[in-house]
Amino acid sequence: MSDPVGLCYCGSGQLFAQCCNRFLLGEAVAQTAEQLMRSRYSAYVVLNTRYLNSTWHPSTRPARLDLDAKVRWLGLQIKNIQAGSKTDQTGSVEFVARYKIDGRAYRMHEISQFVRQEMQWLYVDGSRQ
Ligand SMILES: [Zn+2]
Repeated sequence: MSDPVGLCYCGSGQLFAQCCNRFLLGEAVAQTAEQLMRSRYSAYVVLNTRYLNSTWHPSTRPARLDLDAKVRWLGLQIKNIQAGSKTDQTGSVEFVARYKIDGRAYRMHEISQFVRQEMQWLYVDGSRQ
């Protein structure tokens, strides 16, 4: 699962340790909706449910999050970003994530909504495109 050169799963081109893993480890807080989106994608890849729960708005957070270990995430593409900067309170990120289950390929195209509360970006919900 891990890339030999350690590039981040989110496709930023940066090292995992210097990109999403800082957020997953709680060493840094995502400053933009895009950073949160990317780090949540990486959390799905490494099955980090704790991070997914902690960055999910309480109003929409599932009571129980069961990640399917059979899902093999293949990549994330950010298509569009609305607001979500360091000075915004809300933002949305349109993305395409590709994955395989039992060798069959799937594509998830969604616009995710985020809000910032007490300096912390949170995922609210998403609409499938
Ligand atoms: Zn990353």
